[in-house]
Amino acid sequence: MMRHFKREEFACRCGCGYAVMDCELIEVLEDVREHFNSQVHINSGCRCSKHNKEVGGKPNSKHKLGIAADITLAVPPNEVFKYLNEKYPNKYGIGNYKTFTHIDVRRKRARW
Ligand SMILES: [Zn+2]
Ligand SMILES: [Zn+2]
Repeated sequence: MMRHFKREEFACRCGCGYAVMDCELIEVLEDVREHFNSQVHINSGCRCSKHNKEVGGKPNSKHKLGIAADITLAVPPNEVFKYLNEKYPNKYGIGNYKTFTHIDVRRKRARW
């Protein structure tokens, strides 16, 4: 499978160097990229505790674990949300926002 994502894209935006790539998350993002035939821009990937606080993330944010991404594609965020929600009905955390879609690969199902 082609790999379209680079570690830097997931790096904490504060510059602390925290950057991990979760295999399962990458699989999901590659699938989304292929399904919509669109580049997937990572607005926010990994976050250290400090940066998570700065951007108003919840204390238990999956971004701190490096298993979450806020993504933007060439299609409206609610279409991305709908696709992910239908593809993974029983797991993952998926958030529908006005300007982006949140996806994390937690075991349980969460939607907002
Ligand atoms: Zn940081
Ligand atoms: Zn998020």
